[in-house]
Amino acid sequence: MKYDYLIVGAGLFGAVFAHEMTKEGKKCLVIDKREHIAGNVYTKKWEDIDVHWYGAHIFHTSNEEIWNYIGQFAKFNNFINSPIAVYKDELYNLPFNMNTFSKLWNIKTPKEAQAKIREQIESLNIGEPSNLEQQALSLVGTDVYEKLIKGYTEKQWGRDCTELPAFIIKRLPLRFTYDNNYFNDRYQGIPEGGYTAIVEKMLEGIEVRLNTEFKEYMNSGADGNTFDKILYTGMIDEYFDFSLGELEYRTVYFEHELMENVENYQGNAVVNYTEREIPYTRIIEHKHFAFGKQPSTVVSKEYPKSWEKGDEPYYPVNNERNNALYEQYAKLADGEKNVLFGGRLGQYKYYDMDKVIEAALQMVADNR
Ligand code: UDP
Repeated sequence: MKYDYLIVGAGLFGAVFAHEMTKEGKKCLVIDKREHIAGNVYTKKWEDIDVHWYGAHIFHTSNEEIWNYIGQFAKFNNFINSPIAVYKDELYNLPFNMNTFSKLWNIKTPKEAQAKIREQIESLNIGEPSNLEQQALSLVGTDVYEKLIKGYTEKQWGRDCTELPAFIIKRLPLRFTYDNNYFNDRYQGIPEGGYTAIVEKMLEGIEVRLNTEFKEYMNSGADGNTFDKILYTGMIDEYFDFSLGELEYRTVYFEHELMENVENYQGNAVVNYTEREIPYTRIIEHKHFAFGKQPSTVVSKEYPKSWEKGDEPYYPVNNERNNALYEQYAKLADGEKNVLFGGRLGQYKYYDMDKVIEAALQMVADNR
């Protein structure tokens, strides 16, 4: 069989690309090394609860086009992410807002909070922030940094905050209103029925082969199939057999637990544990993403670690060393005329879901 595209990876990027190219009349084959579609957005029903199997995914975007696009595949609920942070048995609201500051300093007004932060920042004498620690300190001062950022970040990234890029902390809003919405985006929600159903719909009518590893498949003759082009959404360094060296990724391990006859374990979908001594970064209680009323609950503890061969990669570590190495791989990629590279792993970018869709649609437009 002759295909226009071999799409490697049935995650969000691959599925959007396959869907759109199929609509354009292209013949696509999607392969994935896992036994299921949907990559890391995969959700699985457990006791009638959609469990985010590879970590919490909350869809949010300010791009109306992307919101409408994803809306073709599912109805979204009105979930708003408002995580709680636990530090030494004290609870704080996230993101950093008046509720957080009021709890930390027993103050009421934005003016008092701003004064407190200013006082803490002034003594530090930071110029233009050049790493995550300086960026965090210059935004929120020492108390918030020490209690809510330092330990969590060092656990999540496995290195000191001084060795991390500043942009990571800028993902979080800072506001002087009593507003616990973790995102500033115009649109937000969780798809009713889970993310797997979305990807299933995107891939409707498209051939998908699971448990199929790209290199093995190609080396074994690809069932005699031929492909005009390939879209590769796996790790770019792995595609090139790590020939220029390894890019670093972080992975996370989950302890998923069904708690029978526990209706409500922690009262919130996401609870972050920000102190260094607790080995996990957060506990997710999945039913709360969908306002579930089931008699039991499923919770997942999230343990970050360095990626090693055999692990699932989750986050690119976008520091200078890795970004420079990625640029070299990107040059090699330019030389592969019939291969496109997409997604968090193919483009070594800390993409959110909306940005993944945007990038996939752009790639479709560029290859029409
Ligand atoms: N972060 C933090 N404390 C928290 C939550 C987040 O310091 O309680 C920092 C941390 O450095 C993290 C970054 O903010 O890597 C981005 O967090 P986000 O929730 O966006 O990460 P994701 O959900 O993508 O893992």
